Amino acid sequence: MLKKYKLAAAILAAVLIVTTTFSYAQVTEQSGGADAAAETAAAQTSAQAGTDGENNQIKQQEQTNQTNAAAEGVSRVCPRSSYMCFVGMSAAMSAHMSSRSFASKCISLSAIMLLQKEKAQKKTESEAQQNGQTSQTAQPVSTEEPKQPAAAVFPDPSKPMIALTFDDGPYSPVTDRILAKLEEYGGHATFFVVGNRIKTYSSSVQRAVAAGCQIGNHTYDHKNQLTKLSVDAIKDQIHQTDIAAAYYAGAAPVLVRPVGGALNDTVKAAVGKPLINWSVDTLDWKSRNAESVKSRVLGHVSDGDIVLMHDLYPSTADACDTIIPELVKSGYQLVTVSELAAARGITLENGTLYTKMAKQ
Ligand code: ZN
Repeated sequence: MLKKYKLAAAILAAVLIVTTTFSYAQVTEQSGGADAAAETAAAQTSAQAGTDGENNQIKQQEQTNQTNAAAEGVSRVCPRSSYMCFVGMSAAMSAHMSSRSFASKCISLSAIMLLQKEKAQKKTESEAQQNGQTSQTAQPVSTEEPKQPAAAVFPDPSKPMIALTFDDGPYSPVTDRILAKLEEYGGHATFFVVGNRIKTYSSSVQRAVAAGCQIGNHTYDHKNQLTKLSVDAIKDQIHQTDIAAAYYAGAAPVLVRPVGGALNDTVKAAVGKPLINWSVDTLDWKSRNAESVKSRVLGHVSDGDIVLMHDLYPSTADACDTIIPELVKSGYQLVTVSELAAARGITLENGTLYTKMAKQ
């Protein structure tokens, strides 16, 4: 009778070993091929050796997993092997004491598999997370070289720079063309916007901000020169434009260009911001001629110039199609007024007029 039990236990043991090994191989294969298999083998060796901290950790994990597996009855990790292990363990233990060693090994192997499975799952999750993050943050890599040379510090104060400025907009049919050219050549400019136009052409203002351009204040309705308004009316013109720019483009202007460049002490005091006029007047509003605008800029500008144009006229956009590339080719950095001031070490003061900021 005892021999029959031993024989039954032996047969059951053989079946369990084959089943467990098969399931174990499946888990290993699903968990990442050769690497996971190598890790599993290493973990088995380590668990047996148990000589260093890592091995102790594995053994502790083994014990924890044994408890967890027992509590679950059928392992969530390797159902077939664990189930067979528990069936086999019960049968063998009730049959003969010699089956204890088998049951113990079976649990031990199941625990190692559980540990390795969890490690493999963590590795897979980690890789997936990394891949996910990579795909979220990955940006298309342009094969084109930037037209405006990339500098460690932009703008480079040691190199010449020009501040192109555009008044009276935004007006998307023209503003967007100028922005496209600036974007193409990595240039910046300053757009002195009229407040009551911002809502209608907010996309252009937002695009300008996104392109690194600066939004300046050119009054709210552009009806009168500020010199002809009361202090309260001047403040209202500036304030309303600030609100509109901040609301529709998230960019409250810090600079003001007065209508027609007209200033007096009352305006300077009432505006409460730095005032920016120009050193090069293209008269684009008058000529409406691209060739004329180009000739007034190219060959005439020098470092620190502030160029006046208006983003209302297609002829001005036509001129910029040439002016922007040509200035960049000539070595000028195209910057905003604030970038120009910063590069020249100038702190722009409220109520002060600036027209050119050349290198001293
Ligand atoms: Zn104007």
